[in-house]
Amino acid sequence: MSIYYIHQSQKRCIGCRACEIHCKTENDVPVGPRFCAIVPVGPKVVENVPRMNFIFMPCFHCENPWCVSACPTGAMQKRAKDGIVFVEPSLCVGCKSCITACPWGVPQWNRDTGRVFKCDYCRHRVDEGLEPACVTGCTTKALKWITPDMASLDKREKFAREIAENLPY
Ligand code: SF4
Ligand code: SF4
Repeated sequence: MSIYYIHQSQKRCIGCRACEIHCKTENDVPVGPRFCAIVPVGPKVVENVPRMNFIFMPCFHCENPWCVSACPTGAMQKRAKDGIVFVEPSLCVGCKSCITACPWGVPQWNRDTGRVFKCDYCRHRVDEGLEPACVTGCTTKALKWITPDMASLDKREKFAREIAENLPY
């Protein structure tokens, strides 16, 4: 995994897809493909009320990325300095092996160029000290640009607060 992580708060997300739109605009992605996607799941009934969940699916920038291993030309690469996985367009021959290899179908097909392109956490922004466009564009601040360590600590603190709130004393 990269040294970065996008954490989504399920409670905050309203499924407005502003993250997808900001991503497409920032990365000049044509109609059709999406670097990140909101996947609606549900409804499920919680306390007699139907509830939807909206799951944010970017690239996970895996530790040992299947897409990188599958790419025969070295076009799909993992940045040594921070683990961001990206495509070098000049090396992509459009064989689509990475699309097949990625368990989540993250690499996207660009009909206009005949090559694959994908979420690279807006590395051009990251290199300038900015957050990815999906994070800054999120309507409800449901997305957070953090490190995996911070995500783990956040979860522990949230769990601890829930325990404390339910203590009988
Ligand atoms: S494209 Fe898929 S396999 Fe490659 S880094 Fe992203 S999530 Fe992992
Ligand atoms: S912009 Fe934020 S609130 Fe809207 S769908 Fe994306 S993650 Fe959810």
